[in-house]
Amino acid sequence: STSIYYKKNCKFENNHHFKRQLNMKIAIIGTGYVGLVSGICFSDFGHDVVCVDKDPRKIEMLKNGDIPIYEPGLDTLMARNVDADRLSFSLDLADVIDGAGVIFIAVGTPTRRGDGHADLTYVMAAAEEIALLARDYTVVVTKSTVPVGTNRLLEKTIRAANPSLDFDVVSNPEFLREGAAIEDFMKPDRIVLGVESNRAKEVMHNIYRPLYLRDFPIVATDLESAEIIKYASNAFLATKITFINEISALCESVGADIKQVSKGMGLDGRIGNKFLHAGPGYGGSCFPKDTTALARIGQDNGVPMQITETVIKVNEQTKKRMFDKILAICDGTLSGKTVTILGVTFKPNTDDRRDAPALTILPALISAGAKLLVVDPQGKREGEALLPGVDWVEDAYTAACGADLLVILTEWNEFRALDLKKLASSMTSPRMADLRNIYSAKDAELAGFEAYDSIGRASFGTTDG
Ligand code: NAD
Repeated sequence: STSIYYKKNCKFENNHHFKRQLNMKIAIIGTGYVGLVSGICFSDFGHDVVCVDKDPRKIEMLKNGDIPIYEPGLDTLMARNVDADRLSFSLDLADVIDGAGVIFIAVGTPTRRGDGHADLTYVMAAAEEIALLARDYTVVVTKSTVPVGTNRLLEKTIRAANPSLDFDVVSNPEFLREGAAIEDFMKPDRIVLGVESNRAKEVMHNIYRPLYLRDFPIVATDLESAEIIKYASNAFLATKITFINEISALCESVGADIKQVSKGMGLDGRIGNKFLHAGPGYGGSCFPKDTTALARIGQDNGVPMQITETVIKVNEQTKKRMFDKILAICDGTLSGKTVTILGVTFKPNTDDRRDAPALTILPALISAGAKLLVVDPQGKREGEALLPGVDWVEDAYTAACGADLLVILTEWNEFRALDLKKLASSMTSPRMADLRNIYSAKDAELAGFEAYDSIGRASFGTTDG
């Protein structure tokens, strides 16, 4: 019996009506962070995978063995599966759809300009393309993060476009973290499947079989619950980060230390220590757009998501507070000052700068008259277009030479063990705004800095807190 593989709480049934085929042919539409990581990992499970993207530049790069995004370990894993003939890339779904019984939609769902809704243009376009091209039974799996009701709408759209097509729609939201994406995909906390037909359940079981075998939990639900699980999880994490950021402001005001507070809270098993590090506000490709979309979903359904709405507001204020801190450590003026920025990506180990706090804070510094020298191990590639008016420098020491202020915005490993004495002695006025709490007031003072500020902890030489 195959049922011995299933977790007890998994709703999959031991269904003998469908012939089990362990190796699947999978097409993935969209080769962004999610599509590419999923495609490469599925091929590593032994499936035959074709990753499709409309962007010729990306497909050209992938065919040449290059990866359009920065994600540790992905290049090696990709090469291994391309060599094994299990993984290929295509510009056109029409060329690869034959025999692909499962098609994942992993296209972007950015915030729609103007109203905060998730923009479903790409998802719907992909669904229509599938409807027109598919011939045999197809499982259409949504990996993109989509608002409640979207998968139901997708079903209707496909049925309307191709009434004779035999298909099922499955919601399979993705929880991977950029920077640790392979690990998260291969060792997930859970796999969520909104799946309502036994036939599609069987197919999804085969796809994730290597993970079932290793007892990773499966949560099988209806379509709507799967959609909400994704938004609720991200909104909850954004809330946790925002909560600790707000507590950090209180720490500054009363002379407490946020690191000790986080530790003391995080050791409580009910709270947990993850997402409890105070910083310059959350950013990235998911939390800002997903919290905004959840707020819209709540409004549309007459159930305002008041906590999420507040989180969005407080996160904006947090980024503004970072600007105020920087101003305060520069005696209230940035005009004519040279500021070295360490890190622009929203977190380390990714080249993603979508909605990074840097995109709010840096333009504000430029408007206030500062000249910016920026160092980021991966952020320059896309950052050049997004952050006009800054100078990119290769390393922290060169960038700090002659500067008036050093701002640490992203905690890349290479910024964690800088020679602070060397930095301070080369700066015109050695001041540091450490917005990731990598160093301490004591470290800075010993190294010869005149002023140091961080988040929710002791500072000196600043008029802030
Ligand atoms: P992305 O913007 O990096 O990539 C999307 C890709 O889809 C692009 O390369 C685009 O060219 C391609 N595309 C769009 N329409 C297409 C079409 N019709 N045919 C072929 N290709 C098409 O997006 P991403 O960051 O990978 O996110 C994808 C989805 O996954 C989003 O809904 C996101 O919310 C969700 N998600 C992202 C993450 C993350 O860490 N980035 C994590 C979990 C979930």
